[in-house]
Amino acid sequence: MAFSSLFLILTICLNFSLNAQKLNQIEGSNASAPNLIIITTDGLRWQEVFNGMDFALANSKKFNHGDSAYLYNKYGSISVKERQAKLLPFITQTMGKNGLLFGNRFIENKVDVANPHWFSYPGYNEIFTGYPDSAINSNNYPPNPHENVLAFLQKQKVYQNKVIAFGAWDAYNRILNEAASGFPVINGFESLSSILPDPQTKILADMLKDSYKPFKEAECLDVFTHQQAKYYLETKRPKVMYISYGETDEWAHEGNYSAYLDAAHQVDTWVANLWNWIQSTPGYKDNTYLLITTDHGRGFGEGWTDHGADVKGASSIWFGLMGPDKNSNLTKIAAAQKTTMGEQSNNQQLYQKQLAATMAKLLGLQFTAQHPIGEAIY
Ligand SMILES: [Zn+2]
Repeated sequence: MAFSSLFLILTICLNFSLNAQKLNQIEGSNASAPNLIIITTDGLRWQEVFNGMDFALANSKKFNHGDSAYLYNKYGSISVKERQAKLLPFITQTMGKNGLLFGNRFIENKVDVANPHWFSYPGYNEIFTGYPDSAINSNNYPPNPHENVLAFLQKQKVYQNKVIAFGAWDAYNRILNEAASGFPVINGFESLSSILPDPQTKILADMLKDSYKPFKEAECLDVFTHQQAKYYLETKRPKVMYISYGETDEWAHEGNYSAYLDAAHQVDTWVANLWNWIQSTPGYKDNTYLLITTDHGRGFGEGWTDHGADVKGASSIWFGLMGPDKNSNLTKIAAAQKTTMGEQSNNQQLYQKQLAATMAKLLGLQFTAQHPIGEAIY
């Protein structure tokens, strides 16, 4: 073979291999794919989201535990807008202006769970699988047989090994079927140090182990779930992260209205801090969607402490979305609804089962699985 021919072949081969490498880098590159953060706070009522502190509950000796002055000072106002701003400033003011906030039943903007049970495992299953399977009828249900949208994302090249879930309640290993899903689920009293061993996670693990356990071994205080999730976000930079807070539901069951409102207010503060970090960090800034919602509603009046199929109103929920500032899919949602950004006021009915497909669609993907999936909201 003539030297010039060999040179030509070598050049072609080299070009081919360089092109293949480039293609691999593009396919393997996940920097530009949008990120998704999902937050849930268990059983936080739409009533508090859209009306702030409930005066009847704050006045009730049964529920204020002698804290009515504290409640009035911290969360009271004759103005609905001010009550919302005092209790949930990020969700109702920032998201309620620059994002999308659904579920204000005072103006017929309705969101409900589609499952018939109105408690936690069925609700979280519905959020993440898009399938309100009525057979999932217990919080002790075994590992979820249905694939969730986080597992679907974990299978996509750009999100592979960039997905993680944190939950205060120890049921998430089953709800998200950690064994089958292929992404880590850190729940209950599990420590982040199991997958990220360093001095910081060791301190968090020690504090978690020695902490006050008002919910016994089933659920840790939200602060530990939050600190572990925040540390993982800052150091490992996941592209898809779920954080589940549980105290709102626990204090409500105990009939402790000030602890319930304080837990909700704390979650709002944490989410505001996360959003500030997102919008000031390269790779996340203007490239991240945030969904916040709840697994079920609760009753009215004296029935506010409880939920379940026998509690009137407990199927009613709410959700909110934040997104990149410009060209965000959220503007498409508002356009599809013929509304503007902010708190939604259309007379409409949405369902929890629509959230899984919506999450994937925000990232430019169509969620598919072996089970029926609720349609995206746009
Ligand atoms: Zn509950």
